[in-house]
Amino acid sequence: MAKARPRRTIRHGFARMRMSLRRLARKAGGMTGFVEGNRLLLAGIIGVVTPALLLLSLYGFANKVDQQARERSEMLVQHGLERRIAEVSRSITPQAVWGEAVEHLQTFDPEWARQNVGEYFTKTNGFRLAAVADANGRIIFSMNDGSGVDQQLMTSSFEPMIDQIRRREAGLAPLAQRVQRGETLSNPVQATNIASIGGRSFVLGATLVQPDFDASLAKPGPAPIILTGQEIDQAFLANLKDDYQLDGLEIISTPARESETFSEVTLKDASGHPALSLRWKPRTPGANLLREALPYVLITMAVLAAIATTFHRRAQRALTGLIASERRSAHLAHHDTVTGLPNRTLFLERLAQAISTAKRSGRSFAVHCIDLDRFKDVNDAFGHHVGDDLIRYVGDMLSREIRAGDIVARFGGDEFSLLQLDCTPHQASMLAERLVAKLAEPIKLSVGRVFIGASVGVSYVDAASARDPQECLREADLALYRSKDGGRGRVTFFEPEMDAALRYRRALQNDLRDALNQEHLTMVYQPQVDGSNRVTGVEALMRWNHPVRGAISPAVFVPLAEECGLIDQLGWFALRQAFKDSSRWPNLKVGVNVSASQLRLKGFVDGVAQLVEEHGIDPRRFELEITEGLLLADTSDTHETLGVLRQMGFSIALDDFGTGYSSLSYLQRFPINRIKIDRSFVSNLGVESEAEEVVAAIVRLARALGMAVVAEGVETDGQRDRLAAAGCRDIQGYLASRPLDVNNVSSFIDRTPRRSAA
Ligand code: C2E
Ligand code: CA
Ligand code: CA
Repeated sequence: MAKARPRRTIRHGFARMRMSLRRLARKAGGMTGFVEGNRLLLAGIIGVVTPALLLLSLYGFANKVDQQARERSEMLVQHGLERRIAEVSRSITPQAVWGEAVEHLQTFDPEWARQNVGEYFTKTNGFRLAAVADANGRIIFSMNDGSGVDQQLMTSSFEPMIDQIRRREAGLAPLAQRVQRGETLSNPVQATNIASIGGRSFVLGATLVQPDFDASLAKPGPAPIILTGQEIDQAFLANLKDDYQLDGLEIISTPARESETFSEVTLKDASGHPALSLRWKPRTPGANLLREALPYVLITMAVLAAIATTFHRRAQRALTGLIASERRSAHLAHHDTVTGLPNRTLFLERLAQAISTAKRSGRSFAVHCIDLDRFKDVNDAFGHHVGDDLIRYVGDMLSREIRAGDIVARFGGDEFSLLQLDCTPHQASMLAERLVAKLAEPIKLSVGRVFIGASVGVSYVDAASARDPQECLREADLALYRSKDGGRGRVTFFEPEMDAALRYRRALQNDLRDALNQEHLTMVYQPQVDGSNRVTGVEALMRWNHPVRGAISPAVFVPLAEECGLIDQLGWFALRQAFKDSSRWPNLKVGVNVSASQLRLKGFVDGVAQLVEEHGIDPRRFELEITEGLLLADTSDTHETLGVLRQMGFSIALDDFGTGYSSLSYLQRFPINRIKIDRSFVSNLGVESEAEEVVAAIVRLARALGMAVVAEGVETDGQRDRLAAAGCRDIQGYLASRPLDVNNVSSFIDRTPRRSAA
């Protein structure tokens, strides 16, 4: 137990593994479909969406960087401008906070003012205007640089600044104290403003005149004020421009915010009105970055696109392959591989269409079932390759015979079906006859010319009574069966009475299969006697005791067995049984019927040899009865088989002689020991005048060829006498005896004179 456990576990493990592998494979099968379908999407994402997203985010990033750069530069400009203005004010301070200025402006000295205020600022330091206001705020001196400043307007712009200075002056600490602390210089009383005057922008400055080191110089009361006006022009902005690297910095008259390409800053005057607007082209580091990165991005995109394209192409190819193989398998599912013709499935589909069309438009049609009469012979004799060639030839021929829209299908083997649309019964019959005629002609194959012939069954489907496809096909098949049964090479139209007959046959075939298994078959033996009424041999005849239908004649069930492939089994049964039973009558010859289709089967001779061995019989005591049909096919195989059987010791009898082709020529070519004159000749004796002559001719011929003769179906003394007169003394028939049960043969022999087997 302890040992068994792990082994079982391992086996179970394997089983589980196999199961999950199978499941996985199934899933993968489903997945491939999914993947195939989504590869296209995937390719699209890689090739188009990804680069687009990348580019978009890069663009967004660049924009943001630019936006920040812009805001920053605006801030810097604002700040720089303010600093610049502060600088301007500072540059005034040394000239106003100065003992000498106090002395010369307190008590106004025009000459000093001209030199140290007027010319100092306007001529030397680039101010547009310089002026002096007295203790009362009156402008007592002013000078401009001649650049066309509206002096009047400007001085009036100073008024608010003067007031501002005065207010601050009033709140100041005592002067002596301020001078002592150095405050007059470090914290001068100043006011600045920006003003737009006559379309030009100015920095206006007002500075209280105060002593720098000697407070005693100043008289009590309001001090004079030095006023300056400096234009904010390109020169003013030059260092701002350099310091902050502002491209195209310019002053604009009217602010116009929200420009994409320009940045702007507007400064307001003391009263809140816009006094100065600057504009410049902002730096765009983001855009620059984008420009720099773009080639790389494009290269990446191109690479991705190439990958995606390859991916897409592969997917496409895989898809195309899939579609092609699907188409192939769809074709295979609907076509026969040998001929490429439609198969049964497709034929039935078309038939269904034809039926619905017939019902709608009242167009009748015909279904033809075509069967090659001697295909099996060709196939057996020359092999499957030649058989396939023949099938292809027939397929091509049939395809040429039909009209467009009609269809020819192969159902396998040598069965073909044809759908003839929109036709009259006459047209259907003409086509079927034409096909039979064409297939009766010799067909040239690689191995030579073959004669196959064909039988056709037709179901004419009247538009008024169109049935289902299977039914139509079955009817044509039934009619075909009748054609073959009626001697082949002919055309039969379906008629309702055929139906019942076929059903009966099918049922019998099933029963026969059961009979073989359940031993409902037996052998009976019919004695053969010579002219002295001595038993020379017996013929083994098969009997079928059907549990319901009673005894069924082999004349009925042997052809049935041939039709449904049971003849081989039946034949072996007959031989085995006859071999076994023969031991009961050691001196009698035993005839056994061998069907042509059994004798043609490959392993027949070997099978017989094996049976001989098994039963320990002497073949010389057995006569194998064959029919003319077998010899007619005249294949070298048959000749050889018969030769081998003869060598083994068997004799060969030609059964039913005279019923078939009655061609005596082949008698010479085959190793035949005896011919059996058919019952039909015997029953004609004394009825038809030539019957005796015919029998006499047969006997003479047989003798000439060194063959024995026996007459079958002899029922009367008269027949026996006439046969004897014609030279045939050996007979078989009810006159001598009916076929006997195996147990009754011995007692029959005992009652009659005996002669030992030849
Ligand atoms: P067959 O070989 O010609 O056999 C002779 C048939 O004639 C037998 O019919 C027999 O019962 C019948 N018969 C004999 N004497 C008379 C007579 O005086 N008058 C009449 N009216 N009939 C007579 P059966 O047994 O019904 O066999 C029919 C055919 O079935 C046979 O014809 C033979 O071809 C075939 N058959 C019989 N047994 C076997 C068998 O074991 N194997 C094969 N392959 N065929 C068999
Ligand atoms: Ca026979
Ligand atoms: Ca016979």
